[in-house]
Amino acid sequence: MTRQDPGCALCGIEPSERICNNPQGKNPPFCPTVNFSNTVKSAVNETCNGTIKEFALNASIQESEAYSGKELGYAKLKPAKSRIEEIMDFAKRMNYRKLGLAFCMGLRSEAKAVEKLFSDHGFEMVSVVCKVGGEPKESLGIKGHEKVRCAEIFEAMCNPVAQAEVLNEAGAEFNILLGLCVGHDSMFFKYATAPCTVLAVKDRLLGHNPMAAIYNLDSYYRGLKA
Ligand code: SF4
Repeated sequence: MTRQDPGCALCGIEPSERICNNPQGKNPPFCPTVNFSNTVKSAVNETCNGTIKEFALNASIQESEAYSGKELGYAKLKPAKSRIEEIMDFAKRMNYRKLGLAFCMGLRSEAKAVEKLFSDHGFEMVSVVCKVGGEPKESLGIKGHEKVRCAEIFEAMCNPVAQAEVLNEAGAEFNILLGLCVGHDSMFFKYATAPCTVLAVKDRLLGHNPMAAIYNLDSYYRGLKA
């Protein structure tokens, strides 16, 4: 088969009939299970035999334990845990004691609440705000009209590389992202040495719930469509 770019999001096969979900299943021509089989095989080997194995095992158990009603059959499954509970459970499962919290200044109240919650559950918390260092945006070449306040006044740049490196140095074993901006989150992921998870993404307009636009794509957000 000719190798094609993967297109799982376009897959029209019933989930239970897909080759990735059923050993006797079917696949469309853009299927990475078939077209990237060597890559997948080597990734499976890494996941099941490499240094990531314990992490992968616990993530998989975590996934399964996020449901209740399993004894009643697949159709009766119910979600059992919020994301924050899952993060806490997973960190306990992995025996992480010291957690890093990388948060946005705009979510400082939420960060305080999260910090307390995790601390009260026995974790050692270290946290770094996005503006750490107080570096002026001019250091990035930002002009007054490109600032949030649109003026020649001091604005500290977001500093996700510093957030990551401070948390690396502080010995965070697992990082939790809270409200980092698009792009800044990517930089944090790139520079953090400990594994990272996201408690919440930044969505200023939608109360940090970006899926609201997707759920309303055929109604109030139809104007987003090309
Ligand atoms: S792996 Fe193949 S069968 Fe599974 S969703 Fe992707 S394209 Fe469809």
